This record gives sequence, structure tokens and C-alpha cells, in this order.
Amino acid sequence: MTAPTAPRVVLLAGGVGGSTFAVGLRDELRQRGGELTVVCNTGDDLWLSGLRLQPDVDSMLYALAGVKDLAQGWGRAGDSRRVADELAAWGVGWEWFLLGDLDLGAHIARTSWLREGATPTEAIARLQARWELGATLLPMTDTEVDTHVVLDAGRMHFQEWWTRHRARLEPVRFENPGIEASVPAPGVLEAIAAADAILVAPSNPIVSIGPILAVPGLADALRSASVPVVGVSPIIGDAPVRGMADVCLRVAGVPCTAAGVAGHYGARRDGGVLDAWLIAEEDAGGAASVDALGIEARVEPLWMSDAARTRALAVAALAAAGLDVRARPAGSDKRQSDRS
Ligand code: GDP
Ligand code: CA
Repeated sequence: MTAPTAPRVVLLAGGVGGSTFAVGLRDELRQRGGELTVVCNTGDDLWLSGLRLQPDVDSMLYALAGVKDLAQGWGRAGDSRRVADELAAWGVGWEWFLLGDLDLGAHIARTSWLREGATPTEAIARLQARWELGATLLPMTDTEVDTHVVLDAGRMHFQEWWTRHRARLEPVRFENPGIEASVPAPGVLEAIAAADAILVAPSNPIVSIGPILAVPGLADALRSASVPVVGVSPIIGDAPVRGMADVCLRVAGVPCTAAGVAGHYGARRDGGVLDAWLIAEEDAGGAASVDALGIEARVEPLWMSDAARTRALAVAALAAAGLDVRARPAGSDKRQSDRS
């Protein structure tokens, strides 16, 4: 089988790790004349100050649009906090959950469209129409399935647990109330069915990829896909690069190792979702145990510390999915340099 010259790729992703990887993948696919559809986690979504916030969707949107605050890791570059200061003066919202003015603009736009009757998918389509993303951004579902953290004493929204308490309160488990009755957002299953490869971003396996795979029908679509499913480990040297995936994995009973996460996702031949798993050079010692699961381990540099490394990681993930760099259409390098 020859690799398609204009590959269609679906990426399952969360916020920071997911959007960083998505930018490199988008750049590579653009050069190949391919198409990227990102299926984004909406478990992080919340209502705050009367507004619907979609933190992972917005991280993805801003990163692909090139307007993300890269130093901070979230929000819009060059943002200010005038509205947030006013809201704090009125005691509205969460003073520990700071929102920039430009960011609030997106939340107001989304909320007004939702109030006019648009679905989340439609609202996200309108938000992304503002920029030339080079990708289609879809929520995993249009149903509200916000992630809750169940504690010994009560429960709270994931955002409160993470942003306010910095993951210091010991969770019993993570839950997405209502997710059993949710369905994939329009276009998600269609994109998976049409894909030449399906990639799982280096995102939090429990609270970013976990909710996506918990939407009924989504994991099944991956299991039954006729194309490769390749994941990138968010764990390097037995630790998350940033964030609280270590806490989430411990709560879920998954070892905080690249091989542990591979075992959590499972091999497709055994009812899991992966065919191949990219692990870091630091974790090469775990490659044999990943292979033993029936998942092909590929040792690659996984640090997305600059655009070139991130792009190289995207190339490696595509290669693991059988989409070799040689399949680039002739002259595509020139087209890219004209554009950039
Ligand atoms: P969140 O929604 O903002 O938490 O972002 P994601 O769930 O998409 O990504 C969080 C994960 O990204 C964390 O578990 C990190 O370990 C991972 N991550 C961040 N930077 C890198 C990197 O440079 N390389 C790899 N492999 N993983 C990374
Ligand atoms: Ca997130």
C-alpha cells in the first residue's frame, strides 16, 4: 500500500501538550497538502461568571491561530486584565481563575452564540472561522460533561481542584457526569472514518484523553478503524513534562511511566486503542514491555521545546502511522516557503 500524498489525519488532544503538538502536525500536514481534524477534550469546560469557558478548545484555537501566550501556556498573547479586575471588585467569578480581556471576548462570543441556540460545535466553528487555522477543530461532544474531582468530602470542578488547589487535595476519582448518555459531536466519527491516520496527542491520559475516549462510540471508532492509531507519550523519564498527570495516573492506578500509559490505553488487538506508541529516549528501557503489550514502541525525542523539535515529533508520529515523509507531494517545500 502506498501512503496517500494528501493525508487526512485526526488528532485527539487536550490543551497545552495537545495544542503544542497540533501546531507541529498542522505545519507538517500543510506542507503535504493534507488535512488535520482535531478532536478536543471538553471535560475542562465550565460555566463561570455566566460564561461558557472551554479551556482546552481555546488553547487549541489560540495555538493554531498563532495568538496564544506561549510563555504562560494558556490565554491570548499580550492580553490585559481590566475586566477581570472589575469582576473581582464585584466579587464575581473565581479570583484565582484569571481571565484576560481578549480571552473573555471569546467566552462572551461563544456564550452569546450558545444563547442564540447554536450548538458548541457551531460556536467553535464560528470562533475558528476568524483565523486560517489549517485545521478543523471539533469538540469531542456537544453535551456538557464537565470533569469533576470526587474527594473524600464532596466534589468540585476539575478547574477548581487544579487551578485553586494545585492538585493538592487527594482525589478519589475523576468523573464526567452524564458522559454515558453523550454522543460524539457532529463530524467526529465521520472524520475518524475518513482518516488515513489517527493520532493521540501527548496529553493528560486521564483528564484530557480519558474524557474523549469515554464518549460512547469514540473508543469503538478507534478500535474498528482500518488505519493506524499512534500515540505520543506525555510522560518522559517517569514524570509529566508539566501539569498533574502524575497525580491523575496514580488515582487511576496507572504507573507514571511511558509503558504504564501505553498499558492504560491498550493494544487494539486486545480491545485497546493503540497500534504504536512514541516513547522518549529516556524511557527506551521500557520499549520491550510496550512491544510485549502488542503496541509497537518507537523511541524518539519527545521534548517539544521549539518549533523544529515539535515538527520532527509530528513527522515521527506520521511515520509510525505509515505516512512517510517521502509521500510529500513534489514542490510542496516551495509552496510552504512561499506561504511563511
Ligand atoms: P492540558 O489540558 O493543558 O493539561 O494539556 P494536555 O492534556 O494536552 O497536555 C498535558 C500533558 O502534556 C502533560 O501530561 C505533559 O507531560 C505533556 N507535555 C507537555 N509538554 C510536553 C513535551 O514537550 N513533550 C511531551 N511528550 N509531552 C509534553
Ligand atoms: Ca486541559
